[in-house]
Amino acid sequence: MPRRSSKSVDVDRLRPVGPKVSRLYRLEPIGIGTAQVEGLDSYFIRLAAEHCVSPRDLVRLVLIPASRDLAGARFSTFHSRYARTLCGLGPYATRFSDVLNHLAHREDLKQLTLLPWRGLFSTSSGGPTARFKQWCPTCVAERRACRWPSYRPLVWSLAAYQVCPTHQRLLVSLCARCGARQSFIPSLPVLDCCEQCGAFLGLSIAQRSVTVDINHLWDAAALSDLAEIAAGEPIGREEFLRKLQELIDRRTAGNRAAFCRAYGLPLFMLKNWYGKEENPSLSQFLRLCRALHVMPRILFSGGAGLSEALVAGSVCGPARRHNARPDPEVIERMRNALSTLSKAQPIPALVAVAKQLGVTRSSFLYWLPKETAVFTRKRLAAQVRGRRFARKRVEDIVLNAIEELRQEGQYPSWRRIDQRLKRHGMSLWDMPARTVYQKSRVEAGLPRPIEEPR
Ligand SMILES: [Zn+2]
Ligand SMILES: [Zn+2]
Repeated sequence: MPRRSSKSVDVDRLRPVGPKVSRLYRLEPIGIGTAQVEGLDSYFIRLAAEHCVSPRDLVRLVLIPASRDLAGARFSTFHSRYARTLCGLGPYATRFSDVLNHLAHREDLKQLTLLPWRGLFSTSSGGPTARFKQWCPTCVAERRACRWPSYRPLVWSLAAYQVCPTHQRLLVSLCARCGARQSFIPSLPVLDCCEQCGAFLGLSIAQRSVTVDINHLWDAAALSDLAEIAAGEPIGREEFLRKLQELIDRRTAGNRAAFCRAYGLPLFMLKNWYGKEENPSLSQFLRLCRALHVMPRILFSGGAGLSEALVAGSVCGPARRHNARPDPEVIERMRNALSTLSKAQPIPALVAVAKQLGVTRSSFLYWLPKETAVFTRKRLAAQVRGRRFARKRVEDIVLNAIEELRQEGQYPSWRRIDQRLKRHGMSLWDMPARTVYQKSRVEAGLPRPIEEPR
């Protein structure tokens, strides 16, 4: 047999056989298919921790070079405005999940966002994600006590998820020690410590017997339900509207206005969905679930089952709102509080008054509508007066400082004015003071100082 020369060796056959190596570690997401499924922001921070790099460096050095669509993430506006939308329905949720799926050789990372519901919910009107990073301190503390890996469930990133149904407490968005807010993509790959002072985020200021609003509990339960069923095949707008129409046909013989009256829904909502072909927003959808008193999965099932559930008043979430009239003594206390606090300086918010009395804001609106309207009007008027007074004070201080310098024969420069304002705890970098200074400088025909921002 002829001997094979080294030139005839097939190089490809010498390469190791096996799956292609992914650029990033193929980290397993937590809780897919459950109500506590992890959010994409949390997954990304855990991924950075596995690689022992800063999440911000991972964006800058790996994700941006890998995808042209992520060029915008280089700018600081991404961290201040758009990083919060990573778990939502917007373009950054799509781009981040696509590039991470590609780099970590995964296919399921869209399920860590609201993207499976893209065919149903509207992506406009500011998006459904929370403005600030929020968490339940008790959940964080429990995970550490049980030595489970810390992570953030997807639902914590949603604006409508304001209470933890497990611990019946409000989520928080400030560090209990230093009061700082937390970035959605922090510099350090840590999920349960404050990025400013390093304090454990499971610490919490004891909540003074805060009554958790039943509507918030409903929303939290409905969002958990949505997160749980997202792993299946979420329905689109057309199918959802068809099932809702079937329900309207069964309940009020197809009369949408009568259906809205029966369940306390605004008619324009249905008119926009059916007439203008708008997609429901997440908050409108939650309102529908609350009004019908059903969880999303029952609403999506449609047909006779849904109709029966409504007739039976089936409790598939928190207990139905208790409409019984409160104790006359409580109503009297509410009325007294409104009349006394409307003369306070400053007038507190209605929510704060309600919290003090252990009732909800809605109780005030429902049981004392006239008194509440007067209270709110007085509060708004006081706020307007306060703002006008503050503007006048700033104007007087800046103009006095300019006049003093003129009398001393000095040019009212940016630095000199700023120094004088500091005596009053103000700065020329604050917008109202700056505006007054610029206006008076232009009126006096003085040249523009070098330090003055354009
Ligand atoms: Zn909790
Ligand atoms: Zn802190």
